Amino acid sequence: MEYKAETKKCQNCKNDFTIEPDDFSFYEKMDVNSLDLCFQCGMSQLTSLRNERIVYWDKCYKCGEKTMSLYGDDSHKIIYCHDCWWGDNWDGLDYGLDYDESKPLIEQIKNLQNKVPREALIVLNSTNCNYGNNIRDSKDCYFSFLIANSEHLLYSMWIVGAKDCMDNHKVVDSELVIHSVDVANCYKSAYLHDSSDCSFCYFSYDLKGCNNCLFCSNLRNKSYYIRNKKVNKEEYKKEFEKVFDGSFTTFKKAITEYKNVQEMAIHRFAFFLKTENSIGNYLQNCNNSYRCFDGVNCQDVRNVASILYSKDTHYSYAI
Ligand SMILES: [Zn+2]
Ligand SMILES: [Zn+2]
Repeated sequence: MEYKAETKKCQNCKNDFTIEPDDFSFYEKMDVNSLDLCFQCGMSQLTSLRNERIVYWDKCYKCGEKTMSLYGDDSHKIIYCHDCWWGDNWDGLDYGLDYDESKPLIEQIKNLQNKVPREALIVLNSTNCNYGNNIRDSKDCYFSFLIANSEHLLYSMWIVGAKDCMDNHKVVDSELVIHSVDVANCYKSAYLHDSSDCSFCYFSYDLKGCNNCLFCSNLRNKSYYIRNKKVNKEEYKKEFEKVFDGSFTTFKKAITEYKNVQEMAIHRFAFFLKTENSIGNYLQNCNNSYRCFDGVNCQDVRNVASILYSKDTHYSYAI
């Protein structure tokens, strides 16, 4: 069936918004009605009940052990620690309730939610990751959130396929990367932003295919550059040792210079890597993705954020 774009009024903010023909195709595939909320209101409703990275000390309702959780004492929720939640000593079917047609559905769902145990932190198929949330298929991650297929992480957020990394936000398929943001396929680098396929790069912004760069920006396939100028290996080594002399004063100076490097750089409209026919930002290996933000390996997704390995998906966050 051929669909035409339709303008609707958002039931929350009352602004007009457009439902595109591709949205209608998806609704037809899913056999659901079109949404009554604009993108901004739909996403804020989706994320409003979600606690992603605020954690509390709690007590496991089943074994009584102290456990970190997303809820806290005053939530009055039934919290199970990681071992109890994944153990065989309880059966979710015991908490089933019959639907009562005489009562409102929402009231019954609330009643069910208060009765059913909850996992203290969402950690799936992972080992030694009990002090973080939204972690899957990972190992040895401490105080890290939104993590997949990773190993040996500390204090990190939104990491996929990384190993031995610390203090990062949005790092994909990288190793030995520290204090970096929006980085993919990088090795042994620190203080790197919006960069990919780099190694031994420091305090730099928007590098691609580079190695041994210091205080650089907007470079492609370059080696041994300092402040965007080519140097020989000896000059590089000398400056590198000066910058990393272990003194906090030198480090603070380097951070100030790094901020300046970022400010003076040319900023591209969006961070796309191996991505086609898409609208959004920070996309890697994505195709035909519309209003997609922080996506990896996605196809035919619309109105989504923080999304991995997904196809034909709409209005979703962190899946
Ligand atoms: Zn709205
Ligand atoms: Zn327990």
